[in-house]
Amino acid sequence: MQPRDLSDHVAYEAGRGIEEVARELGRDPSEFIKLASNENPHGPSPAAAVAIRETASSVSSYPKAAHADLTTAVAARWGVTDEQVWLANGGDGAIDYLHRATLEPGDDVLVPSPGFAYYGMSSRFHHGDVREYDLEREDDFEQDADAVLERYEGDRLVFVTSPHNPTGSTMPLEEIERLADATDDETLIAVDEAYGEFADRDSAVALIEGLDGFEARDDVAVLRTFSKVYGLAGVRLGYAVVPEEWADAYARVNTPFAASELACRAGLAAIDDEEHVVRTVETTREARAYMREHVDAHVWESEGNFVLVDVGDASAVANEMQDRGVIVRDCSSFGLPGCIRITCGTEAETERAVETLNAVLKDLDLETQPPGDSTAEVADS
Ligand SMILES: *Cc1c(COP(=O)(O)O)cnc(C)c1O
Repeated sequence: MQPRDLSDHVAYEAGRGIEEVARELGRDPSEFIKLASNENPHGPSPAAAVAIRETASSVSSYPKAAHADLTTAVAARWGVTDEQVWLANGGDGAIDYLHRATLEPGDDVLVPSPGFAYYGMSSRFHHGDVREYDLEREDDFEQDADAVLERYEGDRLVFVTSPHNPTGSTMPLEEIERLADATDDETLIAVDEAYGEFADRDSAVALIEGLDGFEARDDVAVLRTFSKVYGLAGVRLGYAVVPEEWADAYARVNTPFAASELACRAGLAAIDDEEHVVRTVETTREARAYMREHVDAHVWESEGNFVLVDVGDASAVANEMQDRGVIVRDCSSFGLPGCIRITCGTEAETERAVETLNAVLKDLDLETQPPGDSTAEVADS
């Protein structure tokens, strides 16, 4: 026998790791830095690393108390009830849960293009049909309700990424509210805030809870992850914050114990490790500013822990940078063959990335937009 027809399905293309690249090129891993997957340059929260070590001897038990305690801690952080917090195996797991909780076979899901590949993958796993709305390069990938509504046709689920990966743009809460108002009662707006901590913006949890002058509503959910600001990408932990009305759906859709004992204990420690968060956000802001100022090509403004750079030929530039020891993300797979995405590193890493990129641009003599000018014509991209 065979699996079902998976011809519509596409494999996730993750950023490449140092070990993988070094082995392929027959070189020493220590020659490389990786700024390709928006990982935390300071590593995991130190408190979380201690918690993981301390939990090692008790992993023979299923995670029950730790799951309950982390749910309560996350709920307290947002001022919501425990039932509104859906812990999951990474933000990706939370994306799965929202699909499971909403989709009937053949329902439509509207996702941004360019955008995060896992939305569509998960939609297809759950027998949904994927449709796309465009974020326009000419508008600097600006996000507003109209960009989505232009393509909206009663889709059951609409994904908004704010800050957006890979461009760094955000959608203001007023626009998310306008979008939710303009769509059907039975349409869920899923606001992916995987990079929320790096942005100078309020969370869309305000829309769910009716804070800051917004009216409370039951058609918005928010996604968050421990992978980025907390530096826990390897343990796989994320969650959705959902409207109170949905509370009892979690027990019916979640994979039992998908958030592991190690993940929950790490999450509990990380959420209290304010110092690591502050340090990470500071480093990120400095790196973003440094790259915008010093890269000899157009760098879009970003509210994430990365920047998108117009290099003309992403594949050539990313390959050449990799040869010179700096691994960045070629955005061709996002539908942006002229752009690379560079994760904010430590000060030293960021400086090395900029120096390497500028040298590569000079050596390859590619035509790119001049720095700061996003309206200029772009050659061949
Ligand atoms: C990283 C990321 C996520 C979540 O990743 P996990 O590691 O599964 O938590 C979700 N959405 C976007 C846009 C991301 O970049």
